[in-house]
Amino acid sequence: MLQIPASGRCQCGECRYTVSAPAYVAYACHCTECQRLSSSAFASLMHVPSESVELTGGSPATRERTADSGNVLETWFCPSCGSTLFARNSSRPRVRTIHIGTLEHAERVEIEAHIWVKRKLPWVVIPKAHRVFEGAGDWSEDYADDPSRYCPS
Ligand SMILES: [Zn+2]
Ligand SMILES: [Zn+2]
Repeated sequence: MLQIPASGRCQCGECRYTVSAPAYVAYACHCTECQRLSSSAFASLMHVPSESVELTGGSPATRERTADSGNVLETWFCPSCGSTLFARNSSRPRVRTIHIGTLEHAERVEIEAHIWVKRKLPWVVIPKAHRVFEGAGDWSEDYADDPSRYCPS
């Protein structure tokens, strides 16, 4: 279990942040865009309340991209080393998506679901107990205690 507050940083250490609330959900996104963004097989992500993320060092650059859904995805990344720290989906403005690999203790976050599995690279094996979504995730049950924060994409 990730201890709260948690901290994270980019690869070079210039950009730093803290998270002061537990995650609603942690998952892997296997979509093609996340493969490119992470330059890997999938992105490891978790959703937290937007106000629980505080920048404690550096000035991340931002980039906006319009997804096929029409939602605007904004990512924050270090201008010096390029690490992507977190993201915002215009359909869920009160949620931040943390890129788990930037946390100081990423090993304490347990991924429990997989989305866009129809784009998954063939060698990635998903544990049997994990929830699987062929396309976008449905997190309504993960937001049961705070449903006003969640809007399906
Ligand atoms: Zn950096
Ligand atoms: Zn994705």
